Amino acid sequence: MEFILEAYNRDTPDEKLLSDIKNVALKLKKNTVSISEYESHGKFHPSTLQRRFGSWFKVLELAKLEASRSKLNIPEKELFKNIEEIWIALGRQPKYAEIKKPLSKYSAGTYDKRFGSWLKALQEFVVYINSDNISDNQTNLLETEVAENTFTNAKIKHKTKREISDRLRFKILMRDGFTCKKCGKSPMKEIGVELHIDHIIPWSKGGESVPDNLETKCKQCNLGKGNAFDV
Ligand SMILES: [Zn+2]
Repeated sequence: MEFILEAYNRDTPDEKLLSDIKNVALKLKKNTVSISEYESHGKFHPSTLQRRFGSWFKVLELAKLEASRSKLNIPEKELFKNIEEIWIALGRQPKYAEIKKPLSKYSAGTYDKRFGSWLKALQEFVVYINSDNISDNQTNLLETEVAENTFTNAKIKHKTKREISDRLRFKILMRDGFTCKKCGKSPMKEIGVELHIDHIIPWSKGGESVPDNLETKCKQCNLGKGNAFDV
């Protein structure tokens, strides 16, 4: 492999990078190229392409190649979603040794390979969670969500969507320490406790999906209060 320093590739046109990976595919007589195959046969470093186009998955897509089944091509969002689910199930930061089935869909090795280490994966995860700003949760002005008040038949216009994004959900759980605000149950103390996010002022009564109006409740407390009043 011909190794070229990153700085020298900054001005390489997109087409040149993409045609190089296509050449590697031709050379290997395959319709996909893995990161390690590209590292051995490509002119550039795989990270140059990843950085330029966002992810290896995207590189393959733009080069009109197939995404290989390699775990390296699991979309990043999917890997973060998995961390989020494990974190919520445990009620705390997952440890390296816990990144295995059935708790985790992917092995710790998958995270090592993709991010360099588990710690780096967690750091990237934090960036991902924090990249969700409140505007992501806001409704498009053209499709303002309207709730109908069942008692008065009055329409309520909302600034936010009823549905809470995964990232906002995670932030609320973190803020509340993965603990039910009503009864204090937490998956940290008791295995299997399911936590929900509850609108304090129900969405149907004009409450918005914003941090101040959201709190953590265990499934029982949420459903107990629940159906009569809020979902
Ligand atoms: Zn509870």
